[in-house]
Amino acid sequence: MTSPSRFGAHRTCSPIPSTNRSTVARVCVTALLTICLSGACHATRGRSGRQESYENPSRARKRERDRLACLLRLKRAAVRYRVPAHPPASVANPLLLRGRLAGVEFRPFARRGSLLADCRLLDALRRTAKILGKHGVRVAVFSNAYSRRRRLPSGRASRHTAGLAIDVHRFVFAERVLTVEQDFARGVPCTRAVQPLNRLHCALSKAKIFDRILTPDSDRAHYNHFHWAVIE
Ligand SMILES: [Zn+2]
Repeated sequence: MTSPSRFGAHRTCSPIPSTNRSTVARVCVTALLTICLSGACHATRGRSGRQESYENPSRARKRERDRLACLLRLKRAAVRYRVPAHPPASVANPLLLRGRLAGVEFRPFARRGSLLADCRLLDALRRTAKILGKHGVRVAVFSNAYSRRRRLPSGRASRHTAGLAIDVHRFVFAERVLTVEQDFARGVPCTRAVQPLNRLHCALSKAKIFDRILTPDSDRAHYNHFHWAVIE
């Protein structure tokens, strides 16, 4: 006796006779057009103008509201930026930082280029810079913000791919430079933190600006930098 599941699988996977294939294709295309023209799906367009994906209209409207609200926060804080000429498709609202944030410079390792990130990360760094400044930091040296990579071991896209994370390795103070690798004391709770980078880390954790912070205490991959990431 044939089981229901086997029977169902057989019906679903049975080949379509060649004479009916063009008819089935026409019906499918017509149905898809009907759905889209009725407003049930919404085509979003990339900055290049090409059609990229479909999403619910209410979600698209919320995303646009959030995008504009983020830009407004940067404008009110007098953050200087420009839109990249060739924005990465994986970053929702890509911006290139120009100048300092609250008096703090975010300097790339190579000393070339600008910080490329999503607006939400720049907004978080704007708030972070105020804390850095209070701790005497003048420059935060980072290896990358936006970069295409995957998380280990899951293999899922990293928040760096969305421009929502930054890796900071070194902090320049008025008279000294401290590195996360050498000057962050491992295994020290915030109640007993006396080293400058530990106190800085504790202040940032308390401020809850980032939804994910990784340090040398987190795992081997972060032995030499802080990973700061915001919510997607
Ligand atoms: Zn990172």
